Amino acid sequence: MSRLKQTVLASNNQHKLRELKSLLRDLPLELIPQSDWNIASVAETGNSFIENALIKARHACQQTGLPSIADDSGLVVPSLNGEPGIRSARFAGEDADSTQNNNLLLQRLYGELDTGIDSRAYFCAVLIYIDSANDPMPEVSLGTWHGQIIRNPRGTNGFGYDPIFLPDEMTLTAAELDPETKNRLSHRAKASRDFVGRLKFRLTI
Ligand code: IMP
Repeated sequence: MSRLKQTVLASNNQHKLRELKSLLRDLPLELIPQSDWNIASVAETGNSFIENALIKARHACQQTGLPSIADDSGLVVPSLNGEPGIRSARFAGEDADSTQNNNLLLQRLYGELDTGIDSRAYFCAVLIYIDSANDPMPEVSLGTWHGQIIRNPRGTNGFGYDPIFLPDEMTLTAAELDPETKNRLSHRAKASRDFVGRLKFRLTI
């Protein structure tokens, strides 16, 4: 039996490592978290989810000499010029928690001057694989999940913006959905399905 190809998972977030390991379990890869090399996080200086995922993947490759996989995700509100976007995790400040981020977003959309601003929004997830720091052809998968931001948070499942995100054609917020349902419909689920298909093909040629 051939040995599984060692590949670095470029994240230091335990929650995400668990999730990615499960989503990518069908791939013929041995996924190793970058913490095994004590790699520090790299500054995410890009202007898009794709650029930031690529920065993280390239950094992990440079540090280990192994192929790597990185992800990036966030919430986009077109009527707010794409905010919170790549700043989703730190929208209300570097150390902001989800409640603070959600409150700031609600303030922007439904603040004192309730101007009836468009509350449509979508989550976006990116997954990237490169086999070397100079890989000219990264494998890139995107997933989106569309809905709207509601005024009053509901639900306790999930994380981040889930309590104020009402997916299209649903009556439950993302935080009211059971985890299995969210993991079937979400931006990350869609990106992962595409990614697994692409990588299976790439790893066989
Ligand atoms: P990152 O991918 O760890 O950089 O996450 C960016 C941020 O986007 C998270 O901290 C959340 O605020 C938000 N986000 C990404 N995916 C989700 C989701 O599935 N539900 C709610 N918030 C999310």
